[in-house]
Amino acid sequence: MSKNWRPATQLVHGGTTRSNHGETSEAIFMTQGFVYDSSEAAEARFKGETDGFIYARYGSPTNDMFEQRMCMLEGAEDARATASGMAAVSAAILCQLKAGDHIVAARALFGSCRWVVETLAPKYGIEFTLIDGRFLENWEKAVKPNTKVFFLESPTNPTLEVVDIAGVAKIANAIGAKVIVDNVFATPLLQKPLELGAHIVVYSATKHIDGQGRCLGGVILSDKEWINENLHDYFRHTGPALSPFNAWTLLKGIETLPLRVRQQSENAARVADFLAEQSQIAKVIYPGRKDHPQADIIARQMKGGSTLVCFELKGGKDAAFALQNALDTVLISNNLGDSKSLITHPATTTHKNLSDEARAELGISPGTVRFSAGIEDSEDLIEDFARALKSVQA
Ligand SMILES: *Cc1c(COP(=O)(O)O)cnc(C)c1O
Repeated sequence: MSKNWRPATQLVHGGTTRSNHGETSEAIFMTQGFVYDSSEAAEARFKGETDGFIYARYGSPTNDMFEQRMCMLEGAEDARATASGMAAVSAAILCQLKAGDHIVAARALFGSCRWVVETLAPKYGIEFTLIDGRFLENWEKAVKPNTKVFFLESPTNPTLEVVDIAGVAKIANAIGAKVIVDNVFATPLLQKPLELGAHIVVYSATKHIDGQGRCLGGVILSDKEWINENLHDYFRHTGPALSPFNAWTLLKGIETLPLRVRQQSENAARVADFLAEQSQIAKVIYPGRKDHPQADIIARQMKGGSTLVCFELKGGKDAAFALQNALDTVLISNNLGDSKSLITHPATTTHKNLSDEARAELGISPGTVRFSAGIEDSEDLIEDFARALKSVQA
């Protein structure tokens, strides 16, 4: 298999292993276990003397294809596919920490990720500090003698702030800590955290990787040494394994990832530019626009503006609700990365559990709306917004 494939080719062919039938499409190996030719063969497999699968909780052929394809795309040595994005995040954090360790995380995190850091980890004696991750000096200041992990998301949900990944990695390396990047919003095509110095990358494959709203999934990628020493046993014995059926769905999804992300990013950029001109809108945040407050970092670490747009309506919650209700092509949903355009009001959905102060800290106001661009024709999306904005007062 060619190691020199460009991403679009990797995503169609990478990791494929064919059965003796020579099927064109990747096969679904919907099996829990595997049989051995002899007792001796079983013994050798368990001793690790021969290659092959043992039990689907540990690994299985369709999942293996998905993991290998993700490794090629990410430029990672090894990966583990998980049943959801949160299974990936929680495993990546917990597998390497013990009571008495300390984690530093950017406070602008996906809600469940924040729960793992703030609520779950402390139950097991793991300390945490949440910071405004936009400024490198905050990472430096938060370091303690027991700091083992830095955790961040960039761009962030929903306000699309970015964190200087290379800068954070430098601080982490100086103290021997590991950097975990939740790279969902950027997608593996627009940002490569491992190349920027991060040690571990996690995805909710539920988002762009499936991209068609069908199944949950996740993946953890890193170097072989980190996976063997930290994740390998944790993964086998706690059981976050992905169903082979979902691994297959994700394999088929990932074939078209570059086409979808290209179209979605173009649509996001066009919608962002359109919204920025409308009198009802106070501000538009899109990592692909020159007026993004951190455009310099974006230029250094991202290859595109992403598929998401965050904007704020002058009329607050009433205006946000009126806009969402008047949209027709764009659907109201808290998911993202789908081929269908989706819109959500974070203050009353994805971020409703935060206090008013915590929301304000993150820049989420009652008028904040998050738009996830689909693959529709951008003219139809702009027409939908233009028509819907007529029901919103300037
Ligand atoms: C959706 C999401 C997750 C969680 O993924 P699930 O597949 O829903 O478990 C984690 N991080 C980010 C940034 C997400 O968008």
